[in-house]
Parts: sequence; C-alpha cells; structure tokens
Amino acid sequence: MNPSIKQLFPFLKDSQLGTPFLIAGPCSVETPEQLDSTVSQLAANGVSLIRAGVWKPRTRPNGFEGLGSLALPWLQEAKKKYGVKVAVEVATAYHVEEALKAEMDVLWIGARSTVNPFTVTEIAESLQGVDIPVLVKNPINPDLGLWLGAIERLEQVGLSKIGAIHRGFSNFRDTVHRNSPMWELPIEFRTLRPELVLINDPSHISGKRSLVKGIAQHALDLNFDGLMIESHTNPDAAWTDAAQQLSPADLNHLMRELVSRNGEFKPQNGQNPLDEIRQQIDEVDRALLEVLSRRMHLVEKIGTYKKENNVAAFQLERWQEILNSRPNWAKAFQLNPDVVTELFRIIHQESIRKQTEWIDE
Ligand code: PEP
Ligand code: MN
Repeated sequence: MNPSIKQLFPFLKDSQLGTPFLIAGPCSVETPEQLDSTVSQLAANGVSLIRAGVWKPRTRPNGFEGLGSLALPWLQEAKKKYGVKVAVEVATAYHVEEALKAEMDVLWIGARSTVNPFTVTEIAESLQGVDIPVLVKNPINPDLGLWLGAIERLEQVGLSKIGAIHRGFSNFRDTVHRNSPMWELPIEFRTLRPELVLINDPSHISGKRSLVKGIAQHALDLNFDGLMIESHTNPDAAWTDAAQQLSPADLNHLMRELVSRNGEFKPQNGQNPLDEIRQQIDEVDRALLEVLSRRMHLVEKIGTYKKENNVAAFQLERWQEILNSRPNWAKAFQLNPDVVTELFRIIHQESIRKQTEWIDE
C-alpha cells in the first residue's frame, strides 16, 4: 500500500484502503433507486469510496448530461445510509460550489476539462482555501504537459491532496480500446511526480466490460496505486457508458481475480537478490554502447567519402535496406521486430544527423 493513498484520503480507515485500492460507482447518477441499489451492493462488497457522475461532459450534444444538483441529496443520503464517501466530477466553479455545499468528499476533473487551462484555473480558484482531495484525469490527448499543468494549477492555489487518474487517450478510428492506454505516458508521469497517487480507470480505457480486467491487471503490474471502475446495478440499462459498466457482483468477482503486485525484494545475505543480475545487465549495456560507438566510427568513414564525392547524406535505398533486414534479423534473436525497427530508426537518424553536420562543416 502506497502511504500517499492514506494522505490523499485521510478520512478512510486502514481497513478501507483495500488491496488494491478501489473507487467504484456508476458512470452517472440516474434515479434514487439506481443509486441506492448500486451503492448498497458496492458497500456490502467493501467499496468505501463511491464515484458517481452528476455533471456529465458529453462529446456530442443531446446525450444525457447528468442530473446536476438534483442528484446531490441522493448522494448525501447514500453516504449516511451506507457509511461510504463520495467522489463527483466537477467542470465549473458552480459545480465546485454545489458539490462542496452538498459535502461531497472527493472531486475529480474529467479528461475533457483537464485539456483546458482556463477551465482548470476556474476550478482551482473556486477551491482556494478548501482542503478536499482532487483527482485529475489525464487530458483526452496524449499531452503530459497538460496533465502536469492541471495539477500545478491546483497546487498553486494551495491544494495539497491531489491525485491523478489515467483513463487513456482518444483515437481517431475505432481501435480495440475506447481510449488507448499509451502506458508510456503514465509511466513518464510516475517518473516525474513519484509522490502523487496514480489511479487507473480501466473502464474508460476499455469501453467494454470484457476488457476491463486485463487493463486493471496491467495497471497493477505497473504498480498503479489503485483503480477507478464504473459499476451499475443494471449495466445494460445504464444511461451512459452502458457497454463498459460492470454489475457490483461482476466487479466483486473481478477484484478477487486480480493479483496485486505488492511483493517486495527479499534481501539475501544483506543484498537485493537482483543485484547480481543487474550488474550483468550494466556490463551488457556498456558493451552495447561500445558496439554503438564502433558503428558511429564507421558512419564517420562513410561521411568522409560522401563529403569528398558530394554525395547526399541520406540515401533512401540504403535506409530501405536497413528497414527491411533488421526486423528479420531481430526474429532470429527472438527480439520484437517493431522495437528493433524503432531502435534502428533512432540509430539511422543519428547517423544522418552526424553525417550532415560533417558534410556541411
Ligand atoms: C467519467 O468518469 O464518467 C468520465 C466522463 O470520464 P472521462 O473524463 O475520463 O471521459
Ligand atoms: Mn463514464
């Protein structure tokens, strides 16, 4: 358990933090009955933080845009009745004001709001002097700067309980996922802001029930701090995101099947058992660089010839030859051909850059 989860949600008891930590609830609040039925089952399964959309930013007009403030007393009621805490999405200063009045416990900023610095600033300013946890979803586009920037805007007004939610990134055409996970982005996020809680939202990445578990497990494999999963008492009848919501029973089942990767290194003779292998990896990496440097010297010789004979640095046929052969060579070494292609793209780019530099000198 990441201790920062406790700092982010100080109102949750240790026993409520779960392994893995889970925020669950309907995409949207629809009726008092739908909310009550969903929350009662989730609470009985040990969910202590409920998510529920009240203001729904929809990509296209004329869809259900949420019940707004009308639904807030129902959430208050659920809090009292089931002893749960509640998180809602806010997208304007008015939403913040209404949510705070209704004593919501956690706020989140949706992907369509994180993209807009003015929106984030408006939300941040309306939260000045308020001590409430705020979760920031990644923006719909794969722009790490916007995601980090939104968090910085909240920090600038003095908010200290901030977490991030990875919900994937929009696609032009239909792909397997509703929103591509692009795992390298949350990994980079983690590298830059290691102290922040990072939660994965497999529901909005998947777009369909059948994929939720695989994404959730992948997130745990990557050491995410928790999950936010949509759950509805009758998913097929949901007013929004019907295809991706899970019944509380299915969600409970899924959570039991997930494997938490919270094991730790067990020291042997006072040493990390991986130290020896890591030393060998260090040696191999050094050897790789030696080989790369040898390659660069050869490139230099070619560059000299090209300069003396006025030959262009970039030769398409040679590049095509490299592009065709290297992925095949990769297979012989049981390496991923796509990764090897990418590697040679970088190496070749650098060769051309160097040669152009020499030729122009
Ligand atoms: C949601 O959580 O229901 C939602 C609208 O998510 P997102 O902002 O990730 O699209
Ligand atoms: Mn949703």
